[in-house]
Amino acid sequence: MGKALIIGCGGVASVAIHKCCQNSDEFSEIMIASRTKSKCDALKEKLEGTTKTKIRTAQVDADDVDALIALIEEFQPDVVLNLALPYQDLHIMDACLATKTNYVDTANYEPEDTAKFEYKWQWAYRERYEKAGITALLGSGFDPGVTGVFAAYALKHHFDEINYIDILDCNAGDHGYPFATNFNPEINIREVSANGSYWEDGHWVETKPMEIKRVYNFPEVGPKDMYLLHHEELESLGLNIPGIKRIRFFMTFGQSYLTHLKCLEDVGMTSIEPIEFEGKKIVPLQFLKAVLPDPASLGPRTKGKTNIGCIFRGKKDGKDKTYYLYNVCDHQECYKEVGSQAVSYTTGVPAMIGAMLIMNGTWKGPGVKNIEEFDPDPFMEALNKWGLPWKESFDPELVD
Ligand code: NDP
Repeated sequence: MGKALIIGCGGVASVAIHKCCQNSDEFSEIMIASRTKSKCDALKEKLEGTTKTKIRTAQVDADDVDALIALIEEFQPDVVLNLALPYQDLHIMDACLATKTNYVDTANYEPEDTAKFEYKWQWAYRERYEKAGITALLGSGFDPGVTGVFAAYALKHHFDEINYIDILDCNAGDHGYPFATNFNPEINIREVSANGSYWEDGHWVETKPMEIKRVYNFPEVGPKDMYLLHHEELESLGLNIPGIKRIRFFMTFGQSYLTHLKCLEDVGMTSIEPIEFEGKKIVPLQFLKAVLPDPASLGPRTKGKTNIGCIFRGKKDGKDKTYYLYNVCDHQECYKEVGSQAVSYTTGVPAMIGAMLIMNGTWKGPGVKNIEEFDPDPFMEALNKWGLPWKESFDPELVD
């Protein structure tokens, strides 16, 4: 039984909050605190009466460390679950440090003016968190998140060493719009318009955006075009999984999405450089976000499935071995259960699980840890219990 402060009330937070409320034996009380309090109040109203979890709400600007400290001191949570945007990570980590409170997030810190995914800013808190005797669990979504847990599980139960990992993220959902993003459009477009990269033989190999394309026949989904991207878990898995020679990350995109993105890029709409517009500075990408469909509105329209997983190749008892772990999630099933599509669902469920394992002390730090540094078994069990059952294959199709 514990108390969680959840910061942010967007697509991912909404799922995590539904799941905390389903799991009221663990989450006896939550506080939903976000920039727009009306969203927190609307969710509280929807969930109250369906759960034993006590729900409170608050307005907070998560970039205001003093306000966060005051909120944490008042509510006294066992864990802070950060489901705002990556820009807020360090401010929330500072407030947790000041109040000696455990911290969990789903995405690594990014400075607002540089689209660069790196753990260095958050890893710099390691010693301070150790000294304070608290834990920061980094990246408890699906990717990063479940992908790291899958890697730790594969290593613990199936391999002596893992040499190759391919992370495959397929969203075969169709929302019927010519162009929309499935999570925060600003964060999504920053991610996919950046250069790609993969980790090989101890160093990064950089590629142009969407330069490397493969077609993969995803179980329960079928063949899809997928493209190599940089992704934050490559950095931590490259260090934490012994024997690794190469890790790559691929994500599927449909042709309509890519054609629109290319056009938006060509006209400058995806730029994060501020421009002068009618006497005011605006960031083109933030303006674009304002005109695109809100990802939260895609829930009722999105049909189809996601399939996200990892293919591992390595050695067991001196022999070569291949192992594929993945989850298939249905957009409409998610919508029926929690009113959100599968991209928010596959992130919100692991966010709840990570917060639960830190809150109830199953996972203990202290320090700043990536998810694959913990025992994967309780997390794998919880995935089956809380809506993201995993499947395995010992003879999967490989990616060349
Ligand atoms: P949304 O844009 O839907 O939600 C973000 C929420 O944070 C909104 O409620 C927003 O408030 C709030 N917020 C933003 N800035 C502040 C601030 N300064 N103070 C307080 N609240 C603030 O995003 P998503 O739910 O799609 O994504 C949430 C996080 O999940 C992101 O960090 C994203 O990168 C991560 N993610 C991780 C994935 C994974 O697999 N690991 C996959 C998908 C997402 P307001 O309502 O006022 O806008």
